[in-house]
Amino acid sequence: MHALVTGCAGFIGSHLTEALLESGDSVLGVDCFNDNYGRPEKLRNLERARDWDGFEFVPIDLSRGELEDEVAGCDVIFHLAAEPGVRASWGSRFDRYLRNNVLATQHLLEAAKARPEKRFVFASSSSIYGQAEKLPTRETDTPQPFSPYGTTKLAAEHLCQLYHRNYGVETVILRYFSVFGPRQRPDMAFTVFSRAAVHGGAVAVFGDGRQTRDFTFVGDIVTATRAAVHAPGAVGGVYNIGGGSRISVSHALSLIQQFAGRPLEITHLPPQEGDVHDTGADTARAQADLGYWPRTDFEQGLRAQFDWVVANAEAPDKVRR
Ligand code: NAD
Repeated sequence: MHALVTGCAGFIGSHLTEALLESGDSVLGVDCFNDNYGRPEKLRNLERARDWDGFEFVPIDLSRGELEDEVAGCDVIFHLAAEPGVRASWGSRFDRYLRNNVLATQHLLEAAKARPEKRFVFASSSSIYGQAEKLPTRETDTPQPFSPYGTTKLAAEHLCQLYHRNYGVETVILRYFSVFGPRQRPDMAFTVFSRAAVHGGAVAVFGDGRQTRDFTFVGDIVTATRAAVHAPGAVGGVYNIGGGSRISVSHALSLIQQFAGRPLEITHLPPQEGDVHDTGADTARAQADLGYWPRTDFEQGLRAQFDWVVANAEAPDKVRR
């Protein structure tokens, strides 16, 4: 299989790319190194993929380029490129969210409509639910985004559905729930907490720490994303991809302090605009149609991320811009 992976230099995209290459697939990776975090970190995410002959990288900004050739040459499209993150989506950066989440998705779908038989797997987000009306949340519950980021991911979902219904593009929408593991983005909580635990220092926790997330290990996310290509009944579908349990931020922090063998100086700040209190995925539909079941125990996954931070302990200062 020849796969197009957008956002291949990012946290999740780089893991997906490697998993495909390891299985003998070839990958055309696309990324534009947007400025949500450092280009050196993204280049480092790609280091292992570059060792495979089956990997080709093309630096394209999906919101600007013509994408027909890239789509024509592949058997399947994994669309992970995006401007992620809730908190940065307010204010002046919103134009980036519109460009990289909405416009980029529309460009790719336009190219895909000429080849509708190709599976188009879209990485959406639990952020489309906002303050969920029910926990665990089902795909049929009303989306009520609570942040500008969430609205752009929901708009991109609607675009996928439109191109499926009008042009038969074989879209599958996956709503990822708080992904963690090695290479997690530097703005995300576990990377921030782990770096502080390794280097010494203080951390700010927004809210009282009792907020919960359905944290999902990146390896499980990759498994679900790949399963979406082959599942016969998944076309046109929407699936929650969660980690199987709700964990509080305080619990995660206490584990990280345990791994580091020292306490962190913790300051509590008011909750940030756009942050929801709880998330939880009902994954029954993904189990039935994709055969998806989260396999990584939370503590084991967090340990893997912590070990990765330790192994890269020299890196942050060097790679920060
Ligand atoms: P990331 O920022 O590490 O990766 C996204 C990549 O997309 C980046 O390398 C970026 O340079 C690239 N990109 C952005 N705009 C582009 C454009 N216009 N053209 C080409 N490349 C572009 O983010 P991530 O955490 O790996 O997220 C990957 C996907 O998963 C995103 O779609 C995100 O919305 C979704 N998601 C992530 C999480 C999470 O917890 N990390 C949760 C839910 C959904």
